[in-house]
Amino acid sequence: SIPLSFFAGLGGASRQGVLIKGSNYLEALASVDTVVFDKTGTLTKGVFEVTAVHPEKMDEKQLLHLAAHVERFSTHPIAASLKAAYRNEADDCAVEDIEEIAGHGVRARVNDHKISVGNSRMMEAEGISWHDCTHTGTIIHVAMDGEYAGHIVISDVVKEDSAKAVEALHRNGVAEVFMLTGDAEKVAAEVAGKLGIDKVYSELLPADKVTKVEELLAAKQAAGSQGKLAFVGDGINDAPVISRADVGIAMGAMGSDAAIEAADVVLMDDNPLQLAKAQRLARKTMRIVR
Ligand code: ADP
Ligand code: MG
Repeated sequence: SIPLSFFAGLGGASRQGVLIKGSNYLEALASVDTVVFDKTGTLTKGVFEVTAVHPEKMDEKQLLHLAAHVERFSTHPIAASLKAAYRNEADDCAVEDIEEIAGHGVRARVNDHKISVGNSRMMEAEGISWHDCTHTGTIIHVAMDGEYAGHIVISDVVKEDSAKAVEALHRNGVAEVFMLTGDAEKVAAEVAGKLGIDKVYSELLPADKVTKVEELLAAKQAAGSQGKLAFVGDGINDAPVISRADVGIAMGAMGSDAAIEAADVVLMDDNPLQLAKAQRLARKTMRIVR
């Protein structure tokens, strides 16, 4: 039978916006010593602003028009930002054959032109050479009918409490805080540096994130660690990693249904500081139970 204090612990957590899907996860949360965060939308706001537009053979408005239309049906935070940047009245141009490729970008036909919008990995996959850009930020390339059409620089900001969250986890005795991202190395290093992350892995495809978490789990096991590994993410692509971690955590308010479904713990708030709070609460409950 489950001790009554578990229910008090689960109830107390839920009142603080932390939903724990069972007493075993409360117990696991108490002994987490490794935390792995996804970057976009978890540690950063996931609300990108367009900071520069560099078209080739067209004007800025045309480049933004193409990007916004290709992204018309995407729910990725990058898509939302590109659509917001192109605040024009909806026009009747035809968008067909849309193909969203995780960790790459989106391809579609716009007014019978084949358009690709995504990162350098996507350009490489299509054999299109892009022009290097010196700006800091996330760079979104656009190609039209197999030719380079320019790039758009967008930038995200870290959440107000992300640095405090990393600090609080360290203070709780969490030995290592990692960050995983599909974004470029330069952007990833900049964010990780600001937040006091112990180690960062960048330019990962969604499947690479699963592999990385498996590697970390294997390394812990080899070292004889009893501590648990938690992964925190919010996106559709995060569901497989959330399932793989000892404690899979979804950020609920902005998160995808798939991530919430896969999670053992849901943080209703978008604030990563909630995790350290939840961990302290879990530990307190375990002390009462034992
Ligand atoms: P993160 O790991 O930061 O959550 P994702 O795995 O969702 O990021 O995406 C990784 C990268 O793939 C993005 O930084 C971007 O370069 C590219 N990408 C993904 N989806 C899109 C999209 N809808 N439009 C443009 N680029 C995208
Ligand atoms: Mg993500």
